[in-house]
Amino acid sequence: MNKPISEMGWDELVPGAALYTFDGSIDYNIAEIQPEDRKYSETSSKSMSVGDWRVIKPVWNSETCIDCQNCWIFCPDTSIIARNKEMKGVDYEHCKGCGLCVSVCPTNPKSLLMFNEFVTVEEALSQWPVKQKKGE
Ligand code: SF4
Ligand code: SF4
Repeated sequence: MNKPISEMGWDELVPGAALYTFDGSIDYNIAEIQPEDRKYSETSSKSMSVGDWRVIKPVWNSETCIDCQNCWIFCPDTSIIARNKEMKGVDYEHCKGCGLCVSVCPTNPKSLLMFNEFVTVEEALSQWPVKQKKGE
């Protein structure tokens, strides 16, 4: 008997199977609804954690962030959380640890830095580098 698609592993899906992001009952304009209020299908990557194989993660320091939104624009996985042009944090359920957000952060010191997955946010913030002076 066929399993429901929601119980299948990725390697059990038929090649070419389509997994729909949203459920079929959408009667609103997606662009006008915040991501957490949209109706995702149970098989979408939004409904499931897809960041559990990450080995390094970006940590955000709100003290130095200037809300420039570079990280939000460049993240290839929509894993930077921002509201009303203010940085709010990183979605660790979906972030893959690629480090692109760190590369494009313009502050000195950077407001996003990569740390090993096992380092807590508190530990990371306590090790944050100080501002580098010109010529250093
Ligand atoms: S590490 Fe990569 S996936 Fe994660 S928030 Fe930064 S840019 Fe996005
Ligand atoms: S790129 Fe850096 S300064 Fe700009 S919003 Fe992101 S964390 Fe803040």
